[in-house]
Amino acid sequence: MFITTDRAGMVAKSEAQATGALPPADVDPLTGVVARQAFLNRLETRLHSEATPRFSLLLVGIDDFRAFNDMHGHMEGDAILQQVARRLRDAVVGRVGGDEFAVLLTSISDPTLVRHVSAAILSMLSAPHELNGRRHHVLASLGACVMPTGGDTTSDVLAAASLALARAKHDGGRTIRFFKPQMRTDVMTRLSLVQALREAYAQRQFELLYQPQVDLRDGRVLGAEALMRWRHPTLGLLAPAAFIDALAASSVAADVGMWLLHTACAQARAWSLTFPDAPRVAINLFAAQLSESRLLTEVRHVLRALELPPDRLEIEITETIALQQGDEVSGQLQALRRDGVTLTCDDFGTGYASLSFLKSFPVDRLKIDQSFIRNVTQDSVDAAIVRSVINVGQSLRIGVVAEGVENNAQREFLLANGCIEAQGYLYGRPMSADLLTEHLRRQPR
Ligand code: C2E
Ligand code: CA
Ligand code: CA
Repeated sequence: MFITTDRAGMVAKSEAQATGALPPADVDPLTGVVARQAFLNRLETRLHSEATPRFSLLLVGIDDFRAFNDMHGHMEGDAILQQVARRLRDAVVGRVGGDEFAVLLTSISDPTLVRHVSAAILSMLSAPHELNGRRHHVLASLGACVMPTGGDTTSDVLAAASLALARAKHDGGRTIRFFKPQMRTDVMTRLSLVQALREAYAQRQFELLYQPQVDLRDGRVLGAEALMRWRHPTLGLLAPAAFIDALAASSVAADVGMWLLHTACAQARAWSLTFPDAPRVAINLFAAQLSESRLLTEVRHVLRALELPPDRLEIEITETIALQQGDEVSGQLQALRRDGVTLTCDDFGTGYASLSFLKSFPVDRLKIDQSFIRNVTQDSVDAAIVRSVINVGQSLRIGVVAEGVENNAQREFLLANGCIEAQGYLYGRPMSADLLTEHLRRQPR
C-alpha cells in the first residue's frame, strides 16, 4: 500500500505494494493499508534521506466519524474505514489514527501540486459509499504539511499535518488546510502565549541553533548565525515563526535577548579556543534590546568577561528595526562597531529603508534576504535586485552575504556576480553547536 509519486504527481505503486509483500505486522488488520508504526518508519526514512527534505505529508480525516459510529454502530463504521482505505489504495500509505489516513507524496513539495493531489483525494472520497444496500455520504478533511516547514522529526511532521487537519475540520470540514508554523501556538491566546514565553525563559526552554555561513568558493565556514528555537514540553520543538512576534512584543524580549547574547558569545569563545580560524557568531537583536541604554555596556561586559575578541561577534539588525531607533541607539551600535563588532543589515531590501539609510546608519555588511535568492535564477527582477545589492556593497566596500542558498545554480549566480559569502540549506540547516563543531573539525585547515 505504500506508494511513491514522481515529480509530476503521478502515483506509482512501490515494489512492496506491487508484489503484496508487506510483512503482516506492517499491515493494518482492518483496512489492509500500512499500519501506523510501519508508516512512521517510512516517514522517518524519507525525512533523513536528504539534507533538505522536499516532500509532503497529507493527513486525511473523516468528518464526524464518531457521530457516524454512534448512529450506525461500529461494524458499519469499520466497513466505512475499509471502503475509504480501498479508495485511497492507489495513493494511500498508512492508517495512522482511528479515522485518519496518511499519504506520503515522496517527491512533491510544490504547494500548488500538493493542493491538486489533495483536492483529487477529497473528491474521490466524496462519492457515496454503498453498504448493505444503503448509501452513506462520508466527508473528509485534509491537512497537508509541505516540507521542510514541518520540522526535523517524524513526530513533528506528523503533528504538523495533524494541526493542519484539525484546522480543516474546525473550519467546517470537507476542506484542505496547509500547515503553518504559527498553528503550533494558535491554540494559545495571545495572553497565555506571553505567559508561556515567560515560563519558557524561566524554565530554560529556549535553545540556540547555529547555521553556517560559508565562503562560496571553497565551502569553508566563516561564521554562524545563532537562531532560536523553543523546546516546548508538549508542542515539541518550535521554530521562531510560531512565537517570535509575540516574544519580540513582550516584556520578556529584553531578557531573552541578553540570554541569547551571553549564550552565543560563550559558544563563539568555545570555538575560538578550539579552532584557530573559528567562525564569527551572528546574533539577531530584538527592538526591545535596542531601546535599552544598557546594550552597549552589556555587550562590552560580555565580551570582556568571556575574553572574546569583538570581531568574533556579529550583530544583525533589520533596516526596519534600525529605522525605528533614535540617535542614541545608533550611537551605541556605532560605538560597538568601533570596538570591532561586525554590524550587519539583515533582510536588506525588504524594509522601507532607502539607500540613504546606509549613510546615516553605516554597517559592515549587507545580508540579502532569502526572498530575493529563492528564484534568483529564474526571475529577472530578483536577479536585478540581487545584482544591485552586490554592487552597492562593492561600491561602499562592505561585505555582502546571501541568505537562503539551496542549490548550485544559486551559488553559481552569486559567484558570477561577485558575492562570495552565503548561508543556506545547501551548506547546512540550523544545527546544534555540537554538530557544527563536528563540521568544523572535519574542515581542512
Ligand atoms: P532571519 O534572521 O532572516 O533568519 C534566517 C532564516 O532563514 C532562519 O529561519 C533560517 O533557518 C532560514 N534559512 C536559512 N537558510 C535557508 C534556506 O536555504 N532555505 C530556507 N527555506 N530557509 C533558510 P528561522 O531559524 O526559522 O528564523 C526565522 C526568523 O526568526 C529569523 O529570520 C529572525 O528574524 C527570527 N529569529 C530567529 N532567531 C532569533 C533570535 O535569536 N533573536 C531574534 N531577535 N530573532 C530571531
Ligand atoms: Ca538574521
Ligand atoms: Ca531573512
